[in-house]
Amino acid sequence: MTDTYLTLVNTGVTKTIAKRLGLPRPVPLRRHRPGQPLTGGPVLVLHDDASARDADVVAGQLVGWDLDVRRHAASAERYGAVVLVLTGAAHPEDLSAPVLAAAGTLRSLESAGRVVTLSRPATADDGPAVAAARQGVDGLLRSLAKELRAGATGNGVVVADGVPVDAPSVLGALRFFLSTRSAFVDGQPLAVDSAGGALPGDWDRPLAGRVAVVTGAARGIGAAIAATLARDGATVVAVDVPAAGEQLARVANSVHGSALQLDITAPDAGERILAHTLSRHGRLDVVVHNAGITRDRLLANMEPDRWDSVLAVNIAAQLRIDEALLAARGTRDGVLADAPRIVSLASTSGIAGNRGQTNYAASKGGVIGMVRATAPLLADAGGTANAVAPGFVETEMTARIPALTRQVARRLNSLQQGGQPVDVAEAVAFLASPQAGGILGRTLRVCGQNLVGA
Ligand code: NAD
Repeated sequence: MTDTYLTLVNTGVTKTIAKRLGLPRPVPLRRHRPGQPLTGGPVLVLHDDASARDADVVAGQLVGWDLDVRRHAASAERYGAVVLVLTGAAHPEDLSAPVLAAAGTLRSLESAGRVVTLSRPATADDGPAVAAARQGVDGLLRSLAKELRAGATGNGVVVADGVPVDAPSVLGALRFFLSTRSAFVDGQPLAVDSAGGALPGDWDRPLAGRVAVVTGAARGIGAAIAATLARDGATVVAVDVPAAGEQLARVANSVHGSALQLDITAPDAGERILAHTLSRHGRLDVVVHNAGITRDRLLANMEPDRWDSVLAVNIAAQLRIDEALLAARGTRDGVLADAPRIVSLASTSGIAGNRGQTNYAASKGGVIGMVRATAPLLADAGGTANAVAPGFVETEMTARIPALTRQVARRLNSLQQGGQPVDVAEAVAFLASPQAGGILGRTLRVCGQNLVGA
């Protein structure tokens, strides 16, 4: 799906006109290519007084990733990224020095620059000043992200007390946010709950040796997930309805995986996924519940079959499939046995709500609740369940939205454009990776920081 406005304001004479008229000019986002440098310039690491040791650990790690790391802000320098280590902040006043030092660098941040905060979560066990400092980082981050320009983003890693800053998922999330893999993730704090997980042997192929099932893989976001997981080393089982069989076969062939024609609402869908995956590939490590439908209507006009079909595909089928897979663990070899991952597609509609989408939002809110309660069921094997909540993404699903509404919807985020399927796929691939093993039952938004709602 093309965004004509984005093309016009970035090319030729229309670019000049848009500039003169002061129209919003979103820039095309830079996407990941294997082998690409992690950041577009030096990385500045700043910290508050009490976070000096954590900042040293983080800086050491960044050097290990071959980044050019600086520890003091220089006004003449153009940074590719600024990392704010605020894990020790115990009073809101502790934030001042590092934040104001970062402020002086923002105007000259490289295009597609990155600001990443590392902080601790505010809990009821904290003293009021500590909780204020910690929650203050959240507000700071969300506002800062709205001020960044030229495809730059601001995101945060919120590290649970007791989890060291060099835990696999802290480093994994930091690397994801620094890289172009997170191009359409903006203004998002992501919690790391435990020191679980493992760093990959090869950051470019973290899923090598893993077998992943992707539902709804014939097109759109699902096809991009299949391609991205395969790029990262996984063997992919692509699942979609029989009516999409031809497209499905094309996707499966292109990723050298296998195709399974299946309506996921079938009562035996879980069994059929298991039978296919074990007989073809011998194991099942990752499940991506991506298949989803919309049947929009105001609730006052909602026909029962619209309500029921959305709930059936978007949440009931996932619950039934997970139940079958979880029951098979321990009784059949290779089923979600070693650091398994379940990643489900939610939606910002399930968080912020959306007029005309009560059925869809109930199903997607359901996904967010489901992963929270599923994560502990996989903990014994180092497993996780998490969700990705896309905002407006350019697919056939959103192409059906009336033209004017579509134009408005894709501009209403900090990056002023719709995401691409690959942006969602990159977030899914990150949550499916070994380095995300400490992220438990969370929902990561891929929405360019939607300006409306939560
Ligand atoms: P899409 O309509 O382009 O593709 C969905 C795929 O799921 C299709 O190939 C379809 O055949 C398949 N599918 C539908 N019902 C199925 C069933 N019963 N069994 C098996 N396969 C089935 O949608 P998309 O835009 O790529 O969305 C993918 C996921 O992302 C969905 O869960 C959607 O709700 C979610 N999402 C999308 C957006 C967006 O802006 N596009 C935003 C938020 C969330």
